[in-house]
Amino acid sequence: MKAMEETASVRIDGKETARAVRGDVARAATRLRASGVVPGLAVILVGKDPASEVYVRNKDRAAVEAGFAVKTIRLPEDVGQAEFARRIEELNRDPLVHGILVQLPLPRGLDGAAAILALDPEKDVDGLHPRNVAALWRGEPGFVPCTPAGCIELLERRSIEIEGVHAVVIGRSQLVGKPLAALFLQRNATVTICHSRTRNPSEITRTADILVAAVGRPRLVQRDWVKRGAVVLDVGINRQEDGSLVGDVDYPAVAEVASAITPVPGGVGPMTIAMLLRNTVLAAAKQAGLALEGLGGRRI
Ligand code: NAD
Repeated sequence: MKAMEETASVRIDGKETARAVRGDVARAATRLRASGVVPGLAVILVGKDPASEVYVRNKDRAAVEAGFAVKTIRLPEDVGQAEFARRIEELNRDPLVHGILVQLPLPRGLDGAAAILALDPEKDVDGLHPRNVAALWRGEPGFVPCTPAGCIELLERRSIEIEGVHAVVIGRSQLVGKPLAALFLQRNATVTICHSRTRNPSEITRTADILVAAVGRPRLVQRDWVKRGAVVLDVGINRQEDGSLVGDVDYPAVAEVASAITPVPGGVGPMTIAMLLRNTVLAAAKQAGLALEGLGGRRI
């Protein structure tokens, strides 16, 4: 009995939820196509980073499966800022492209912030353009970055309460930590962000009802960092020497105290692509002036 109690946490299956979101997106894409609009996604990959190659391939495949038109633009590592900006500008003007994603990180020598600023905010399906960032913090319609949006979707699809709870986010990146904190705040959670300079982070994380780790440090979050009954989302993806992936959370140990927890792989990861597809289909509908039902009432 005791053993059962100790391992009673629910494994949050991100693959299953991502499949459900992708199903909604594919149905929405079918409706758009019936109106003559094929959702178009352009992915820009600069250089030959092997991890980025894999991510881009997965995004391409998922977008094609959802019935999108996909354009992958591969640029050499030495492309130069002016040519890079010109290619983005071309996609901004292309009426068949509704969403543009610049795969990060960019090779040294290219200014990522400038590239994001060059994007048409209406096509910025990664939600990184300053106009979309401002909209998020102001509670206005705009694109939300895919990984944090995926975290919230995992919670909401399971009716895990966010309002009034203490949500602790470890990590303060533009891509994950900060936007996720904004999303929790929007949903009336009390939010704390921990980061590399936080003193005694475990004292703070132990007070979390919902704890999200988005750091990139294998097994940083140990069992004694987590309150019994907390919900734990692990965003971290860390490749070990043997090639396997682990998250930022010591899964077997933390699963003994958490009420629900995401695994790595198969937790938050699959949600990122699903939310990219959703942002793109919403972008296509908005640019075509069409209304879309059945996508969770998202406003962009
Ligand atoms: P990042 O390197 O930009 O940010 C890491 C953050 O962790 C920083 O804000 C830093 O202050 C904080 N940090 C570093 N050391 C810390 C420590 N000891 N204690 C507390 N905080 C600390 O990374 P990112 O882009 O936010 O990604 C974080 C992790 O999530 C990485 O492993 C990345 O691979 C993964 N990731 C996964 C997905 C997905 O789809 N699942 C998407 C994006 C990122």
